[in-house]
Amino acid sequence: MPQSADKILDHLPLFREPEYQELFKNKKEKYECGHSDEKVAEVAEWTKSWEYREKNLAREALSVNPAKACQPLGSTFAAAGFDRTLAFVHGSQGCVAYFRSHLSRHFKEPSTMVSSSMTEDAAVFGGMANMVDGLANAYSLYKPEMIAVSTTCMAEVIGDDLHAFIEQGRQKGSIPEDYDVPFAHTPSFVGSHITGYDNMMKGILEHFWEKQERTAGTALNVIPGFDGFAVANNREMKRMLDLMGVEYTILSDVSEVYDTPSDGEFRMYAGGTTKDQTKAALNAAATLSMQEYCTPKTLEYIASKGQTVASLNYPIGVAGTDAFLMKVAELTGKAIPAELTKERGRLVDAMADSMSWLHGKTYAVYGDPDFCLAMTRFILETGGEPKHVLCTNGSKSWAKKVQAVFDSSPYGKGCQVWAGKDLWHLRSLLATEPADFIIGSSYAKYLERDLQIPLIRLTFPIFDRHHHHRFPTFGYQGGLRVLVTILDKIFDTMDLNTNVAGETDYSFDLTR
Ligand code: SF4
Repeated sequence: MPQSADKILDHLPLFREPEYQELFKNKKEKYECGHSDEKVAEVAEWTKSWEYREKNLAREALSVNPAKACQPLGSTFAAAGFDRTLAFVHGSQGCVAYFRSHLSRHFKEPSTMVSSSMTEDAAVFGGMANMVDGLANAYSLYKPEMIAVSTTCMAEVIGDDLHAFIEQGRQKGSIPEDYDVPFAHTPSFVGSHITGYDNMMKGILEHFWEKQERTAGTALNVIPGFDGFAVANNREMKRMLDLMGVEYTILSDVSEVYDTPSDGEFRMYAGGTTKDQTKAALNAAATLSMQEYCTPKTLEYIASKGQTVASLNYPIGVAGTDAFLMKVAELTGKAIPAELTKERGRLVDAMADSMSWLHGKTYAVYGDPDFCLAMTRFILETGGEPKHVLCTNGSKSWAKKVQAVFDSSPYGKGCQVWAGKDLWHLRSLLATEPADFIIGSSYAKYLERDLQIPLIRLTFPIFDRHHHHRFPTFGYQGGLRVLVTILDKIFDTMDLNTNVAGETDYSFDLTR
């Protein structure tokens, strides 16, 4: 065998060894009983045709590779941004393993959360016993200051009542009478992870604010929304708010818990919004959501308490950051300092320096609604064309908003927005109307290979590249990072396409 204890081969070279190749060949012939390679290739080609595209776009009852996750992923992410808070998901263990692995694979950090481990008996008789035991175990083993409960499909299908179950937990002594257990029902068969984020954020605020009277103050609350770049983006946001001299509270700040140092100490909880800050946030003058589509119910609730509320669409690039700073200035009365104005000028300068390479490039963008809006705007700022903008969890009103951004620029002419479509739809769109680049998550690497369209990874989840989330995409500084990420891919692609000696290397230039 090619594998030996003296020289351990990684699976990449190992599976290319003749023994393994023979094994794969035999397996295919004897057990897979599939169609011939020619037939498979023929059908694969047909699925790239306009005929197939029309059938695919007419599809109604099936999603294939949707670019979204289910509600509890968002609710547990929101909970993780509160100090010493344990996310507790009432439902089955496998779901929670999925949320944890999703977050850990992206952030390269441990992701703490627990489940009530419902199994078949709980599905039949209800999950109250699981909740009562689960709360007791979570409270005594992991010593959180607060347990934030949400649900999986299973608990929702059988109609478990979180409020009643948590009260049972108190009565049976699982947790102290006055212990904080905010909760949110997060049925996974409606909405997506951004709905779950919204539900949990509202649940936590309601839990604390319903017991208080509001005394209007002058501070600003900021809600980041579900963001795979939150580690660096929240820090960048705080830096900009500090430069403006704003008194603020970030509601759900995951920048510490998903970026703990390696110094010999394991931190199950790190940083985040404290309970006192959350309570005091009721008295803020205003709340600003960085992602409109992550917070509709939360903002409605906050407005009902008497605060001014406003929302943005993920402040990437020049116009996105302008909107953020001007909104903060409007809500707080603070001026935008010269230092930030200078950063703006530097971003504009960098974009102008690279304009000849950016101009006219076409892109397919997919991701969450606010990310798509932000990237659409930024691409247009660079003179590029966001040819397809696709959002599985986007609504018709979201699509109208994207169309309005297209219409605001001559480069938006002919660009198309696709609400409620998935990545299998995107394959058809790109096979028939290709773009130069795809902007999305790691999941598009299969489209990249299949269609030979280079992928630029700029949104959650990024599993197959490391540490991107440690650099901001928000603000003018973040805009530079986004710009460089796009430019690097443009230049790498150009170098790859011009490197055959004596044939195409007349453009394999040292200076671009
Ligand atoms: S969709 Fe339902 S079953 Fe699947 S991971 Fe989400 S909660 Fe669990």
